[in-house]
This record gives sequence, C-alpha cells and structure tokens, in this order.
Amino acid sequence: MRTKIVAGNWKMNTSVAEGELLVRQIDFLLKDNTAPVEVIVAPPFTHLVSIASILKDNDSKVVLAAQNCAYKESGAYTGEVSVKMLKDLGCKYIIIGHSERREYFKESNEDLKQKMELVLNNGMHPIFCIGENLQEREENRHFEVVAEQIKDVLYSFKGADVANVVLAYEPVWAIGTGKTASAAQAEEMHAYIRRVVADKFKGYADEIPILYGGSCKPSNAQEIFEGDNVDGGLIGGASLVAQDFVAIIKALV
Ligand code: PEP
Repeated sequence: MRTKIVAGNWKMNTSVAEGELLVRQIDFLLKDNTAPVEVIVAPPFTHLVSIASILKDNDSKVVLAAQNCAYKESGAYTGEVSVKMLKDLGCKYIIIGHSERREYFKESNEDLKQKMELVLNNGMHPIFCIGENLQEREENRHFEVVAEQIKDVLYSFKGADVANVVLAYEPVWAIGTGKTASAAQAEEMHAYIRRVVADKFKGYADEIPILYGGSCKPSNAQEIFEGDNVDGGLIGGASLVAQDFVAIIKALV
C-alpha cells in the first residue's frame, strides 16, 4: 500500500505569527480526522522552530518539511541551511528541485543529485519535483523531459534509497497559474513516471508515492486524486488557507 500524502508548500509567504496561526488551524481542523493520509507542511526556514514546537505541544500528526536545503554538508556556504540542521529541527521531508528553484536559482540536475544524496544519507525523505514547462508540453516533449529529470537524478541511487523518495509531478504551466492538468493528463503522466522508475527499480516503483502539484484546490482535488497512480498532492496557494488545505486532504480519501 502506497502512502497517501498531501503536502503544503507555503513558499515565501506568511509572517511567523501568521504561519503559527495557520498550522494551529490546520491541526484543529484535522483533529478528528482518522484518514490514513500523511499531512505535511513546508513553511519557510524561519518558521520551522516555532511550528515544530506547536506541532509537538499539540501532539499533532502533521509533519514538517523544508522547502530546500544546501547541496553541501556543512562549512563556508554563507546563507545556506544544511540537511543536518533541518533534521535537527524535526523535518522529515525536504522538497528538492521545485521548478521555482530550477528556474530562478538555476539549480541543475547535478545540484539536485547532491541534495538528494544528503537527504537520503540523513535518513530523510526527499520530495523530488519534476515536470515540463508550457513550451515543452506544446512541443509534445513532456514525457521525454520528465524521463530525463528522473534518470539524471534518481538513476544513480540504489533501489533501497529510492524507496524513500516521494515524487511530485508538477507541470510548470500549472503552478500558480490557475490552470490545472486534467485528471486524465495527470494520470497519464503519473503512470508513465511509475514506468520510468520501474525500468530501473523494478521492485520499488509500486511503493513510491507520486503527488500531483499545480493549481490544485478543493474544487478539482477529488477528480485529480481519482487516478490510480495519483497518490496525493503538493499544494501551493491553497495550502495557505487552512479550510482549503484540509478540504484537499479530505478529498484524497
Ligand atoms: C507548488 O508550488 O508546488 C504548487 C503546486 O503551487 P500551486 O498549488 O499554487 O499551483
């Protein structure tokens, strides 16, 4: 049975006080929820300490992710935050390779491979984002692009490590644009991704959760989540409103 997951990527939003309120609201709305869904929040680095402490005090089932990490272990890398530091703060997951990081911060597959290695070596779970941009989809190159992203980063690891990875298919043209992949487009790509993983990691591919991300909201979540290979969502904008985020979580079961 694959783990079902809904993860909220807050990006560079909320003050610490707003983030604290948001996580309290999410936790409150989920109190009676017994559905087997791993609920993850990924606040900005600056919020992790206080949010970890709220989750602990509330004995919450919500778990923490970081939105990024350094590609080096430690040392003279001003402004960076290491995987070990994030582990120390109680993060279980780290988002790797979000399209905003690939695009604005020019992160290459080689950088992502190094980050992935650090995350896995520290016993944490990468949420590895892949997905094509609009031009690539229009040129009908989306399968090729996504396969390359998987091969370049994942194929050098062992199956036992890859078993700890969560994949997030995020078509770049759907992120923050209000455009969503149709349920059929999402399922088609998720099934393809699973086949590409299976080509190299046969015994593991069926166990790896593949999340959909891109303008997912309460009104479209249930339809998108219906695909056999869609194991949940990575949610941006809608994760900033507790009621919407929780409605998406409830749509998964
Ligand atoms: C994201 O940034 O991962 C994302 C899916 O954003 P949004 O839901 O706002 O499209």
